[in-house]
Amino acid sequence: MRTAMFSAQNYERALLNELNTDHGHDLVYLDALLDSDTASLAAGFPAVSVFVNDTVDRRVLNHLARGETKIIATRCTGFNHIDLEAADELGIKVVRVSNYSPNSVAEFAVGLLLALNRKIHRAYNRTRESNFSLDGLMGFDLVGRTVAVIGTGKIGTIFGRIMVGFGCNVIGFDVHRSPEFERIGGRYVDAEGVETADVISMHCPLTPETYHIVGQRTLARVKKGALLINTSRGGLVDTEAAIDALKSGRLGGMALDVYEQEASLFYKDLSSSIVSDDVMQRLISFPNVIVTGHQAFFTREALQTILGTTLESLSEFEAGRTLTNQISTSRSNG
Ligand code: NAD
Repeated sequence: MRTAMFSAQNYERALLNELNTDHGHDLVYLDALLDSDTASLAAGFPAVSVFVNDTVDRRVLNHLARGETKIIATRCTGFNHIDLEAADELGIKVVRVSNYSPNSVAEFAVGLLLALNRKIHRAYNRTRESNFSLDGLMGFDLVGRTVAVIGTGKIGTIFGRIMVGFGCNVIGFDVHRSPEFERIGGRYVDAEGVETADVISMHCPLTPETYHIVGQRTLARVKKGALLINTSRGGLVDTEAAIDALKSGRLGGMALDVYEQEASLFYKDLSSSIVSDDVMQRLISFPNVIVTGHQAFFTREALQTILGTTLESLSEFEAGRTLTNQISTSRSNG
């Protein structure tokens, strides 16, 4: 099926071409992010594939519907970038990759926590300049510490399991309790209970209910020196409030793989440009902040599953089969 692949990175194109030999779709790669200015590029394509920072709101969907698009396949788990109600009204089906190595994200979150706590990012830079001093590099033992998991789904539970292995006391906050989270040794608390933790790791979807779930109020009450890890979605954390909490010392450090305004920055090499996002510039100036560019999913296993599932969904649609990974408007998950 003729498919417009928006935001297609080089590493995806090679693998897509390889996997597509089993499907035979006509894939047209587009560098552009999908938005209302670029939606016309998809005119005449029955299928459109997007990624996390493409905009698939009502305006864009109206454009796509006029161009005869019938299915949107997002190459990720979260779908906060897609207006599902508008898609449903316009008769456009939406599929996602509901399950691909959740280990990839959980393991990366653990990596960020270790780097942030033990200042590995700073040590790496120092030793490259023959500076072997330890001043400013002290961390704390994780064993016996309390780690809070916000969102105890697939990724949050694996993250929790790894932290139990470190000897941490793992607590969780979720609107739905998972027996698996309790089986691995996690204990549920209410929203305020999270504020007792030494480490808070975000693993819930971005929805209207979770927007800025970690904001000024929570940040004023977290344990002094707590570390915040966000590998889920930028909009979960009020970044300006987090900067204030870092400045006051209430927050001991923050590691972000996602950022609310990431669409204009991530997946681009801006090293020769002046980055005009002052909040990001501020963030990367802190010694106790680590920013990565939405790469937690990025393992060979995960990418293969993401792209293979996307192609399979397109084949299911083309053959009129049931869409295994369709997102229905009634789901609140992301
Ligand atoms: P999941 O659906 O298995 O788990 C999400 C959990 O969040 C569920 O248990 C759900 O009940 C809970 N939740 C929903 N609303 C909540 C609320 N208001 N408060 C607390 N908890 C709430 O999803 P998953 O596969 O574990 O993925 C989690 C998130 O990770 C995704 O939504 C996505 O945003 C993010 N993600 C990031 C990357 C990356 O590369 N950085 C990759 C994949 C997924």
